Amino acid sequence: MEYEVVIGLEVHVQLNTKTKIFCSCSTEFGAAPNTQVCPICMGQPGVLPVLNKEVVTKAVKAGISLNGEISKYSKFDRKNYFYPDLPKGYQISQFDLPIMKNGYIDITLSSGETKRIRITRIHMEEDAGKLIHGEGEAVSYVDFNRAGVPLLEIVSEPDMRSSEEAYLYLKELRNIMKYIGVSDVNMEEGSLRCDANVSIRPKGETKLGTKVEIKNMNSFSSVRKAIDYEISRQIELKENGGEIVQETRLYDANKNKTFSMRSKEESHDYRYFPEPDLPPIVLSEKEIEEIKNSLPELPDKKRKRFVESYKLTMNEANLLTEERELADYFENCIKISKIEPKKISNWIQSEILAILNEKNISIAEFEKDYINPQNLVELLNFVEDGTISGKIAKQVFEEMLESKKSAKQIIESKGLKQITDNSEIEKWVDEVIKNNPKEVEKYKQGNEKILGFFVGEIMKLSKGKANPKAVNDILRSKLK
Ligand code: ADP
Ligand code: ZN
Ligand code: MG
Repeated sequence: MEYEVVIGLEVHVQLNTKTKIFCSCSTEFGAAPNTQVCPICMGQPGVLPVLNKEVVTKAVKAGISLNGEISKYSKFDRKNYFYPDLPKGYQISQFDLPIMKNGYIDITLSSGETKRIRITRIHMEEDAGKLIHGEGEAVSYVDFNRAGVPLLEIVSEPDMRSSEEAYLYLKELRNIMKYIGVSDVNMEEGSLRCDANVSIRPKGETKLGTKVEIKNMNSFSSVRKAIDYEISRQIELKENGGEIVQETRLYDANKNKTFSMRSKEESHDYRYFPEPDLPPIVLSEKEIEEIKNSLPELPDKKRKRFVESYKLTMNEANLLTEERELADYFENCIKISKIEPKKISNWIQSEILAILNEKNISIAEFEKDYINPQNLVELLNFVEDGTISGKIAKQVFEEMLESKKSAKQIIESKGLKQITDNSEIEKWVDEVIKNNPKEVEKYKQGNEKILGFFVGEIMKLSKGKANPKAVNDILRSKLK
């Protein structure tokens, strides 16, 4: 039987506020266990939470950026469950009146087609603490530093139909959160976490199948692999006459398998009720408008603008807008030069991205520690005005990375200036013709392709410095 895959994602984004959501403890990552705690985030009796305004601002930023409706009236609710990392016995979250509803993200599939993935809701909530299971010891430790760190839970509709679509959605979501500066969105450090809900149904069926929730994926590639594994597990089970049970499964990246963790609880199991210690959140049109106006240009808009104004392909625009800093670097180069944007884009994509990869640094670090837009433009201008060839430019670029000298200094000190003096080039041409009589004969018999061989030899003699156009012209006239 043919099956259709249905996927919905629940993504937790840790907000990068300085302090926690309901107290003034620091949210700094990596501190010694239980050093960033107070009676409020430890859940002592008699304390009162106070909402951090920055959390609301950042949630609204996220909500607007994901094209949703911001609630002018929303509230917090208690989600009751018992677990050692949750000192109060309940988590302050949002239930029926979340901060945002009805958003969406448009993703671009590999076919070039755009697909809209709807976002059901975003709610604000507090994070729980962290359990550390002592290795070889029959104990678990608990670190409450993370308890009370603000999170957004972003819930999608079950609109994705493959692991590829889930991956593209997650990546775009991550990019948007990064652009608007509300989170570090680091999957390895846990500031971006994703639970995937996966089900299958016979092709053509409109009712949803039983879903399985997968947790514990801490990289983009794990999300993809876990979903693919789960799809094949479900299909195999169905084909063998089995039934899929609604449950939560954990992904093990080393084994590339999912394992059953617990049967899934329903929302009524949590006994949600309104949080009595916090007033509702009331936002005015004006406040929402102000937050909206503070937002930067988002990736989708930037991509489209890059294609239109700089004549780039969608693929190129995609690459350049993946990081806001990279897009800025590109546009800064354009602003300070007359070089065609396409040429700058080519350089960034072929040379700079390779270096970022090789050195494992960000574009911001590259700009600060290696080559800034001014220096890059200076180098490219030397190619534009014919001082050096494109090939030599790559050599100068390497040298700039190493010595941190400017292109001008390197070209001068190494004597890399392109040679356009015809009498000098003629000497090399004559020498190559004299040394290769057989090839000359072949050329005269009509083998045009052999010209490339001559050019190569001449360039070698000139150490790459002869102007290629002059070489071609002189060579052709001498071989006549
Ligand atoms: P729950 O009550 O278990 O939390 P929800 O209806 O709130 O379930 O959905 C949670 C997530 O699971 C959402 O992202 C939603 O899109 C997704 N989802 C719901 N039903 C299915 C299904 N049958 N297959 C795949 N994903 C689903
Ligand atoms: Zn605290
Ligand atoms: Mg739900």
